Amino acid sequence: MVKLPTMTVIGGGIGGLTCALAWQAVGGRVSVFERSVGPSEVGAGITLWPNAMVVLGRLGLTEKLRAAGHELEEGVITDQRGRPLLRTPVGSVSRSLGSVSLGIHRATLLSILVEALAPGLIEYRKECVRTEDDGEGIVSRFRDGSAFRSDVLVAADGLRSEVFGQVHGTAPPRYAGYLCHRGIAQYAGEDVPAGTAFEAWGRGLRFGLVRLDQERVYWFSNESAPEPETRIEPDLSRLRRVFSSWRAPIPAVLAAADPASVLLHPIFDRPFRRDRQGRGQLTFVGDAAHPMTPDLGQGACQAIEDAAELSDCLARVADPEMALRAYESHRFPRVNRMVRRSRFQGFVSQHSTWIGCLLRNTIIRCTPERLLTASFRDLVAPAIRPTRDDSH
Ligand SMILES: Cc1cc2nc3c(=O)[nH]c(=O)nc-3n(C[C@H](O)[C@H](O)[C@H](O)COP(=O)(O)OP(=O)(O)OC[C@H]3O[C@@H](n4cnc5c(N)ncnc54)[C@H](O)[C@@H]3O)c2cc1C
Repeated sequence: MVKLPTMTVIGGGIGGLTCALAWQAVGGRVSVFERSVGPSEVGAGITLWPNAMVVLGRLGLTEKLRAAGHELEEGVITDQRGRPLLRTPVGSVSRSLGSVSLGIHRATLLSILVEALAPGLIEYRKECVRTEDDGEGIVSRFRDGSAFRSDVLVAADGLRSEVFGQVHGTAPPRYAGYLCHRGIAQYAGEDVPAGTAFEAWGRGLRFGLVRLDQERVYWFSNESAPEPETRIEPDLSRLRRVFSSWRAPIPAVLAAADPASVLLHPIFDRPFRRDRQGRGQLTFVGDAAHPMTPDLGQGACQAIEDAAELSDCLARVADPEMALRAYESHRFPRVNRMVRRSRFQGFVSQHSTWIGCLLRNTIIRCTPERLLTASFRDLVAPAIRPTRDDSH
């Protein structure tokens, strides 16, 4: 029987927490260090597709997630006036893959993950500033002067990963060409039907909605723009003006949006390179390894897949270093494809010339629905097999 290495996880986001849960589930010892003061209560919504739900199902979380989230039946894309471009049968595809797709508040997802961890495994206010191999293991050093040693270290510290910077030097992420506002609105209107995730595409502008429950919707708006040189603040009043003539219910949802919930981020990704993976007994997961644009809603889902693959490799391969390299080489082709596919989707949906948008919309309308559905199925198909828990 393989002696399980001890694991330190830097970062208590979706990727880090799922890694810790997956390692806990196979009987491994794990400690999570998160720099913020507690579980995040901010953030907007997030979609979890079958490829992530299957992993979370293995961790016994299906029922809690289904109770807290909103099951998606259909994805709809229209132009800004509401003329249909594409309909995706999300629910039936998800069920055919043995799972479901959910819209859920990010803070709710994080709290479900934290609650599933054994008490005391996560420490807050612990910012990792350095890691080193001292011959007996990997030592994480924290801003408060403390240190912690384990057999393997998993850096799950997000897009601007401190650990990634130490290992590979500065590798700034690549700006994707657009800014994303997102937030939550108290909106019970029936023009956001239950189970529908909806997007409207214009010229260099996009608006999306996902119902979170009967009362609330998660909304986002993307706007093509040069990379900001300084910090930018959300501007809900401007958004209300920009989208005032767009299809219903966009103006009404923006009118109902809670200004305190609105976030604004420039969007980045980073091409995933073979020479920019882990070293020794250290590896990366989630956005620290492979930030991708949100255009396919796959960033967190891929972080969740990383967690499953990492724990499988560490539990199977006796030498931890070899296990980490096996994890990286298994994940490399799939996440690289996701990074590229997300960026391409962003390029298409954020296109801003009149003729380009006309061409885009015409091509989508003329593409047989079964091809588009097959492409969606390929995107969200689990990389691991479902278990009985996944769909019940
Ligand atoms: C607008 C938008 C919409 C999105 N929508 C979706 C979606 O619908 N579906 C989906 O699957 N994905 C979506 N994503 C992507 C998803 O949000 C990310 O891929 C996911 O959050 C990555 O999780 P992570 O744990 O790797 O990183 P993060 O969520 O960034 O977590 C990193 C954690 O590490 C902590 N940390 C950072 N540095 C340190 C340090 N030095 N020491 C200790 N702790 C540290 C941070 O405080 C944070 O808690 C979206 C992204 C954006 C921007």
